Order: sequence, then structure tokens, then C-alpha cells
Amino acid sequence: MCKSTLVRWTIIPRIAPRPWIACGGCGTLKPFLSSGKVRLNANGRKLDAWLIYKCLDCDRSWNRPLIERRALKEIDPATLEALHFSDPDWVRAREFDIDDLRRKAQRIDEYPDVDIDKETLFEVAQPVTTVIELQVPLSTCLRLDRLLATELGLSRSKLQPLHEQGRLAVDPDRKDVLRRRIRSGMRVTMAHSKEARP
Ligand SMILES: [Zn+2]
Repeated sequence: MCKSTLVRWTIIPRIAPRPWIACGGCGTLKPFLSSGKVRLNANGRKLDAWLIYKCLDCDRSWNRPLIERRALKEIDPATLEALHFSDPDWVRAREFDIDDLRRKAQRIDEYPDVDIDKETLFEVAQPVTTVIELQVPLSTCLRLDRLLATELGLSRSKLQPLHEQGRLAVDPDRKDVLRRRIRSGMRVTMAHSKEARP
């Protein structure tokens, strides 16, 4: 470790996934955008909550279920407060909940555009390797090779041979890892050479 510089990249996607929903106004499947607003309905001791989306073309609403007929006492106070105030951070996490969206939408558009917050956690003067730790708190469709190519100034076609030679290691590694979407906790170790300096 003492020969490595350690950096952390926190990946912040710019655009939330857009579900395609059958729109009653347009009469066909259309992309919907989150309004950022939560609608609540308390019925006795049960609560329903929806995130309101709007058709991109005709503005008609789609109420995306967040909570369905759940007992009020089962919902923790922080969640209730977030629902009540349409807390932006809480809502944003729902907007990027791609697994939940996939259960509700027939098609989802995702965008690879991200901002990257880079921090140096540990620095050595002449590192043998640089370790990049990825934090990906919100889901993104950005592929690892595209991220590295852009940020390291390398062509994507150069990354594969570096990976095969062991000069670029990914942990956890798996088949075609460079072509897969980035995930939190991934660590990329780059051996230093003239052509690759993060
Ligand atoms: Zn519409």
C-alpha cells in the first residue's frame, strides 16, 4: 500500500432515468419526468405514497407507487417526514432506484452523464500504482471503460490490453468488467507508465 496513491471518485449522475409509461393523454408509450413531488394518502392507519411523474409531451401525470397500503406504525419517522416534505435527497434516491423502476415501466431511458468529485485519500511521491476507489451512491449506466477512458485520457481500445496485461486491475473482477456499469466499491488499480497517469 505504501507505494500506492489512493484516490476516491464519487460519481454523481446528472439525469435521472426516464421511465416510459402508457400515457392516457398521448395514447402511446411516452417518457415521463419526475416532478419531485410526493403525494400521500392516509386511509385509517394505512398509508399510500406516490412520486408524481409527468408525461414529457402532454404533462399528464403518472403516480408511481412508493408505498402501498402500509401500516403507518411500520414506517419509520424519518421516512414519513421525507415523504411529507418531498425531501429532495430522498426523492432523488427514488428517482434513481432503477430496480424499482424496472418493475413498473416497460422501458427506461438512462443517461451516462455524470459529475465526478475526486479526492486524494493517500498520496506518495512516486507511486508504483494508483488505486481509484469508486463511490456510486446513485445508479448510473456509465460503463467502467468509458469512465476510465475519459478521465485518464486513454482510448477505450487501449484499456482492454492493459487489463489483460494486469497493468489495470479491477476488484471485484468479472467477465467483461470494463464493459459493465460502474458500481460502488469497485477499486481500479493502475500501474504507472508514461501512457496512464490518473
Ligand atoms: Zn402524454
